[in-house]
Amino acid sequence: MDDCIFCKIINGEISSTKVYEDENFLVIKDINPVAPVHDLVLYKRHIRNLNELTNEHEDFSKIFEVIKKVAELEKISNGYRVVVNNGEEAGQEINHIHFHVIGGRKLGKIA
Ligand code: 5GP
Ligand code: ZN
Repeated sequence: MDDCIFCKIINGEISSTKVYEDENFLVIKDINPVAPVHDLVLYKRHIRNLNELTNEHEDFSKIFEVIKKVAELEKISNGYRVVVNNGEEAGQEINHIHFHVIGGRKLGKIA
């Protein structure tokens, strides 16, 4: 999508720090991390959020394997948080589906 920051990162128009990539996902460091590890798992296809997932996106479910792999690469497998801000009221700022993987310190209670 033309005006989407994450599409621009995925196609290389905007630079990012890559953690992992495969055919369906690009994982990058968040530009404004809230913990020592704060990565963003970007789905390579532009959909807004979980509400737009359909059975055309069956490859999306592989995100859970990617998250596990990222935790291993980042050495946080003993504890990390996976966050999805789904929609405006949940604080979603970028309307391209992505999961946050956060860890590397003791995390407080959620919300
Ligand atoms: P959301 O609130 O949409 O779930 O999270 C968007 C995340 O993207 C935020 O944590 C923000 O710091 C991160 N972000 C915004 N712009 C950029 C960027 O240009 N590069 C990277 N690496 N992260 C970004
Ligand atoms: Zn996009």
